[in-house]
Amino acid sequence: MYGYGYGFYGFDRTYILLIIGMLLSLAASAKLKSTFAKYRRIRSASGLTGAEAADRILRAAGITDVKIRAIPGSLTDHYDPRTKTVSLSQDIYGQTSLAAVGVAAHECGHAIQHAVHYAPLEMRSAIVPVANLGSSLSWPLFLIGLLAGIRPLTTAGIVLFSLAVLFQLVTLPVELNASSRALHMLEGTGILGSAETKGARKVLTAAALTYVAALAASILQLLRLLILAGGRRSDD
Ligand SMILES: [Zn+2]
Repeated sequence: MYGYGYGFYGFDRTYILLIIGMLLSLAASAKLKSTFAKYRRIRSASGLTGAEAADRILRAAGITDVKIRAIPGSLTDHYDPRTKTVSLSQDIYGQTSLAAVGVAAHECGHAIQHAVHYAPLEMRSAIVPVANLGSSLSWPLFLIGLLAGIRPLTTAGIVLFSLAVLFQLVTLPVELNASSRALHMLEGTGILGSAETKGARKVLTAAALTYVAALAASILQLLRLLILAGGRRSDD
């Protein structure tokens, strides 16, 4: 639906911003896939599975009320603060690769953030509802405002979209911090040796890049909204 209704103004050149954002996201996800594929073939010397590594990390951090479970899918791993559950995809849960142990440790990093009330995580949880509202309502409001010439609606669309961008901005430190906690714990608890930790670090860095790309793509989309709104304003 992007760009809908602009045909009669000629080619919408701001489309290029969307394409750049899409290319960044594609490049980041391709990099993650190839890095993950490489390190899922390398087993850790300790032989612990993702689930066992997660259990050891949580206990080492003094966390006893977080559950670890297996879920279907690939790279669907996450930590849910509401249910205090580390959910690991089948591959991660039962495998002993550097990739599996690294991703499992990363999700434990989120559980530790939750336990220590890490401020960016709390801020992120607090803005989830507005960010969801923002991403679903921003485009319809923006387009109606633009096409019908109702400026407050256009502005509301931009503000709502900014909330979704803010959410992604706050996500970044949360993700980076979870990975740094993860690598620290992996080495500190002896789950991985220092050479192995480098492999896990590569996987987690590639995962972090997908968040950077998503943020960049959103900022480009926001820029596009601002350009479209500004361009229409000068036409009025
Ligand atoms: Zn994460």
